[in-house]
Amino acid sequence: MVRGAAAREHNGAMQRFDSPLVAAAMVDAVRAGARICRAVQATLSAGDSMKKDDKSPVTVADLATQAVVARRLAAAFPEVPLVGEEDSKVFEEGDGPSLVQTVLGWVRKEWPAASESDMRAAIDLGRGEGGARGRFFTLDPIDGTKGFLRGGQYAIALALIEDGRVVACVLGCPNLVTPNGATGAVLVAVRGAGTRLLPIDGDDHAGVAARVSTQGDPVKLRLCESVDPGHTDQSVSKAVLARLGVLAPSVRMDSQAKYAVLALGEGELYLRTPTKPGRSEWIWDHAAGVICVEESGGRVTDLDGKPLDFGTGRALTANRGIVGTNGVLHGRVLAAVKTA
Ligand code: AMP
Ligand code: MG
Repeated sequence: MVRGAAAREHNGAMQRFDSPLVAAAMVDAVRAGARICRAVQATLSAGDSMKKDDKSPVTVADLATQAVVARRLAAAFPEVPLVGEEDSKVFEEGDGPSLVQTVLGWVRKEWPAASESDMRAAIDLGRGEGGARGRFFTLDPIDGTKGFLRGGQYAIALALIEDGRVVACVLGCPNLVTPNGATGAVLVAVRGAGTRLLPIDGDDHAGVAARVSTQGDPVKLRLCESVDPGHTDQSVSKAVLARLGVLAPSVRMDSQAKYAVLALGEGELYLRTPTKPGRSEWIWDHAAGVICVEESGGRVTDLDGKPLDFGTGRALTANRGIVGTNGVLHGRVLAAVKTA
């Protein structure tokens, strides 16, 4: 048996970080997180928590999911840092102290031996800063919190970044209805190896290939955009659609499930335009979705047509907005964005 530094070196030599084996470990981590999210979501009675404006179920699921996913990643890839959205500081703020035991209860469903300090330490593995050099994971344990609370779309989004570029991802979308009629999907993308659609449950790691739509007629373009008008300037989207002469209805949904819709060929455009000048996007809100679309044959840039740079820390400070397409329509969309 190899121990300590020797073991790390041994494992390092064994791990090709762009390999399907790495993706398989990431899939298992996301599936464990999705089990927690679905169980917590099932405890919400429809619409109830939105009415009461009680955000605690999403806080609970967010923290529990980050703890469980981070712990699994640290066990499989101890040398790879994590940039996660959540931080255990939440337990010290507002009604945070009252949530500790509830979060721990959910964590123990997947990690029975976890103590409170194990859980806090696992959450805070996500304090990585990212950056331009080397390799790190980025995780949004629940992307689309509003969708989660209303029983709609949300995602568990995990990506691996190397030298500022996304090289692999697992995007879990527990409520997404796939083209084959199943509810729940996991999309796995590995740079140069394509995007695959896997079931959310079970241990199928092969799945089927995902491909973007081949639609080249802008009139038939289907836009996917945020439900929340504070997250994207919907008046710009309207102007872009008018410029392109689009007649097809748009789809509004929360979370990176929008990127999954593109990768599965059920939409042609993801558009995100800043509602406030100078606001940057968070890397964990896009890394997984971007590679899913690119590896299924699509294209993603910012509003100026620049590639997204994931090496700028926790936020995408070198880019402005997001344009994701099926590829064929990218040039026409960028031209329409410029003049909208
Ligand atoms: P979506 O579900 O696509 O609308 O995006 C959800 C994500 O939007 C959340 O995870 C937040 O990080 C992010 N977000 C929050 N405020 C803003 C904002 N003002 N502009 C853009 N994105 C935001
Ligand atoms: Mg998010």
